[in-house]
Formats: sequence, structure tokens, C-alpha cells
Amino acid sequence: MIKFDDVYYEPESLTYPLGKQLKEQFAALPWIPIESHNSIKEMQEKPNSEFAQMKRNLIIGTRKTHKYVENHKVSDYLVPYTSSGCTAMCLYCYLVCNYNKCAYLRLFVNREQMLDRIIKRGNKSETPLCFEIGSNSDLVLENTITGNLLYTIPRFAREGYGCLTFPSKFHMVEPLLDLDHRGKVIFRMSVNPQPIIQQIELGTSSLARRITAVNEMCEAGYPCGLLIAPVILTENWKALYTELLEQLRDGLTEKMKKQMFLEVILMTYSYVHRAINGEAFPDNPDLYDRELMTGRGRGRYCYRTEQRAVAEAWLRDEIARILGDVPILYFS
Ligand code: SF4
Repeated sequence: MIKFDDVYYEPESLTYPLGKQLKEQFAALPWIPIESHNSIKEMQEKPNSEFAQMKRNLIIGTRKTHKYVENHKVSDYLVPYTSSGCTAMCLYCYLVCNYNKCAYLRLFVNREQMLDRIIKRGNKSETPLCFEIGSNSDLVLENTITGNLLYTIPRFAREGYGCLTFPSKFHMVEPLLDLDHRGKVIFRMSVNPQPIIQQIELGTSSLARRITAVNEMCEAGYPCGLLIAPVILTENWKALYTELLEQLRDGLTEKMKKQMFLEVILMTYSYVHRAINGEAFPDNPDLYDRELMTGRGRGRYCYRTEQRAVAEAWLRDEIARILGDVPILYFS
């Protein structure tokens, strides 16, 4: 169980079944009432150097905005779901762009309402739609606290049309294996070389455990894919990614290798990340590389076009050489 120091909560959340459950689960911690999970002044005023300590707070509220964003990758829509933020601290985490240093875990207790909407939207469509429910957090991690996937997966399987999908960097899939999913949930495991996980994806599961977990999900009948993401062009990136691909070749089951697909995403970074990481994690690698990166608007950085082209060509060849004819859905 993840250890938290304090719970900040919107009082209304205690009227929901999940709110009541969480109140019991974390009864031993101080509960501090807040007006809105979006604006906790005390947190906003903390220095960047306290980023890691801030991640030890649990925030509980209800989700009020339910805007679906079109997406044209594995899913048709990105759907805000039961959590945002995370207890882990990947140094490139995209959520930091949205929440700045307030990228701690927020749980939204109105899950019935959110899943009702997804089911209704899917059932209204003539063609099956796929909903990405994990773009704001890591649902496998969240499930260890809330059990939300145990609620979501069987209910969507019974009542929903189309599919759900979510990615993860965590291995705690055991409770999901026996669920009645009817093949309607696509599980995507995110992978990176172990040295990158250790130094940059702080607080996430090891590569070996992620490989075991995705094998188990595949064996349990879930359609599964792998995200090689984000690809980080460190000094020795070629050697690291060759080793990763070889570990995938050797560690994934034949069943998984036959049915999987890949998504490959190069890292993006930002001014906000640099400011937070520089103060909160001064001893970890600096992901900003002036030579390789360029501005991408609104304080964001991405690898330069020529660098991206080199990385894409090299990775496509290396994937084909080591993993064979596995479909790459996109490279971005
Ligand atoms: S596991 Fe995902 S959500 Fe959590 S810090 Fe890492 S990138 Fe962000």
C-alpha cells in the first residue's frame, strides 16, 4: 500500500460510496477539507524543491469537467476518468505540463457518473468506439487504492459497446486477471530500458516486472500492446534500446509477441520540468539537451527534426531486426 502523509478532500466527496470507502481506508491520516481539488493554495505556494514530499499527499474530490478529446491513435477519445496525477515521479511526466508541481494523485469519487457517460456515448455510436481512460494518471497504480478497475472492467464488459484502453508503468495487475473483460479492454504496457527506469521513471515498476505483468494480462485474454515511450536520446541510447528490445524478445511470451502492437513516442520536455527537476532532483540526469532539442511552443521542447528522423529510422530497423514483423501503430 502506498504511504500518504495527509488527505486533502472536498467534503462533498464523502457522500459517494468511494468517498466513504476511502475515509475508512485512510482513517488514521489527517483529513484536511478543501474547496476545490484544483486550487489548494498551500500547495501552490510550496517551493519546487518540495515536489517529492508533495507527492505524498492524497487529494480526493469529484470530477466536474467531462470533456472528451478526439484522439486518433489506439483510442477514438481521451476521456477524463477516475484520477489525475500520480504518486510516481517520472522526470518527463506529461502531467507536470498540466498541473505544474501539483501533479500529485487526485482521486475522483464520482466514478458511477463517469462510467455511465462512457457507456452511453459508446452505445449511441453505430461503430464501436475506443475510449482512453488512462491519459491523466496510471490506473493500475490507482486501482491498488480504489479498486476502480475492478468496478470499471466488468461493468463496461457487460454494458458497454466498443472498448476501453489504458497504459501503465506498473506491475500490479494480479487483481485484473480473473475479471470478466470479454476482450473489450486493451491493456498497454509502457517500457523503457531499466537504467532509464531507475534514474528517470522514479517510483515505477522495474522492466522485468512490467514484462511479467503484460505477459499475464495477455494470458488472461486481454488484447495487449507495448508503448516504447518515451524514447530518451541519452548519450548511449542506441545500446540501451537494443538491450531493451532483446529483453522484450527473450521475456515476452510467444502469445504476447504474436498478438501485440507497438506505439513509439519520443520524449518531449518543458521549461516547467526543468525548473522543478533542477530543484527537486538535482542529482538525477538533466533531460534537457540544447544540442538535440528545439522549442515547440508554450515552453515545450522536443527533439530536432533531423534527430527525430535518425532515431525513427534506427528504431524501426532495430525493432524489425530483433522483434520481427510486429506492427508499429505510430511513431511520434
Ligand atoms: S507513471 Fe505516468 S502518470 Fe505517473 S509520474 Fe510516471 S508518467 Fe506521470
